[in-house]
Amino acid sequence: MRVGILGGGISGLSIARLLKENFSVEILESKSEAGGIARTRSVAGYTYHPVGGHCFNSKHRSVMEFVYEHVLKQEEWNIIKRNAGIKLHGKDLTYPIEYSVKEIAGYDPGLAASIIADFSTKKTTNDSKNLEEWFRQKFGDTLSELYFLPYNKKIWNMEPSEINPDWVEGKLPIPDRESFFRSLGKGEVDEMTHRYFLYPKTNNQNTFIDKLAEKLPIVYNYQVLSIEYDKNTNKWQVNGEKAYDLLVSTLPLNLLPSLISNTPEVIIDTAKKLKYNKVTTMLWTSEKTERTWTYIPDQHSIIHRYIHIGNYFSPRQNITITESIGTRTYEEMRIAGGQDPFLIKPLDFHVSNHAYVVFDKEYKEATKRLKDYFSRLGIHLLGRFGEWDYFNMDECINRSMNLAMKLKKGF
Ligand SMILES: Cc1cc2nc3c(=O)[nH]c(=O)nc-3n(C[C@H](O)[C@H](O)[C@H](O)COP(=O)(O)OP(=O)(O)OC[C@H]3O[C@@H](n4cnc5c(N)ncnc54)[C@H](O)[C@@H]3O)c2cc1C
Repeated sequence: MRVGILGGGISGLSIARLLKENFSVEILESKSEAGGIARTRSVAGYTYHPVGGHCFNSKHRSVMEFVYEHVLKQEEWNIIKRNAGIKLHGKDLTYPIEYSVKEIAGYDPGLAASIIADFSTKKTTNDSKNLEEWFRQKFGDTLSELYFLPYNKKIWNMEPSEINPDWVEGKLPIPDRESFFRSLGKGEVDEMTHRYFLYPKTNNQNTFIDKLAEKLPIVYNYQVLSIEYDKNTNKWQVNGEKAYDLLVSTLPLNLLPSLISNTPEVIIDTAKKLKYNKVTTMLWTSEKTERTWTYIPDQHSIIHRYIHIGNYFSPRQNITITESIGTRTYEEMRIAGGQDPFLIKPLDFHVSNHAYVVFDKEYKEATKRLKDYFSRLGIHLLGRFGEWDYFNMDECINRSMNLAMKLKKGF
């Protein structure tokens, strides 16, 4: 049984590794390297992620076991304490904001009082129709208007009232009243999820990626342009020259239908409804900080976060990535970063392709229709853009493990 895996990002590499003992696998990857959007780049003696930050952790024990036993041993990772901040009112507040009310009280007692009053009296219903309502229900109006709504408007490039709230459950720490009030006493909280994360001791996430890709049959610089099912051979033909019994696609779901011959118009049109955002990043030398991330809700800045990637490393380096949603020019990024004396010198610049899927009001119905279609067709969808979801690397591995188990059972 020959399995064609379209795309050599974390998802494609993971499923190939999991299937290779049972099937003849082959990965088709358009770039000259594996790892997709998780891959790092080295410039001027520094290594960074052109797309995002890409630290690693997982709540799935099976994922951690797979990584430690089959990819990169536990002792080859550093454990780093998450130390995120929020740049607000010219202050550096501790993330998550709902636990930094004590800090806010230090400079604006009235605002802190309003946050507390709102949080104490907020509705506890669970019937929000959009992301704005969801934030207001979970955190109250003051915190929502202060931080959650402006920040989310930036990262979605859309009003939160236009976003479906389904994606957010489980993605954010939600305080109950008890932990909220406990944090007022201590000024910090210690039960936050994702409090620690892992980064390879080599100070380069490519170490993990390259281990994941080790000894896998990958055809690099191979762009999938067409896919066709050949009824005579019962095989999938890729680019009219490669034949597979089974296909796993990690390619973006909005593009896949147009690669397949005879796709119905309605499916092509549905795929066009899927929205996504690109990100533009700039790498900077910076001042020293203890933070690992800084979030910036300020609507006047195009930058929505700093990733202090140098603090993922040991020894630390004073380098920071600035991230902005959409396509920005080098000058826009340089000028925006230049407003903050913390950022010293721009070193590199990158505009991504797919970075964030957008959960607007159409996404749920559109993805369902597409997934049903591909399920009937017998093409297996996998990964962040393959399944069109907010997956981190660990969830991509988890999904690969589930799919591998299903495929092994079926044959
Ligand atoms: C800004 C940002 C920050 C993030 N931070 C983190 C983090 O800190 N921790 C974490 O765990 N996760 C993080 N993630 C999520 C993580 O990047 C993804 O979950 C994961 O890398 C997705 O892997 P994938 O294989 O599904 O997709 P991709 O990485 O997109 O892989 C798809 C592959 O398909 C290839 N391809 C596309 N089209 C074709 C074609 N036509 N022919 C052949 N090949 C093709 C691409 O080149 C690519 O290699 C972040 C994501 C973003 C955008």
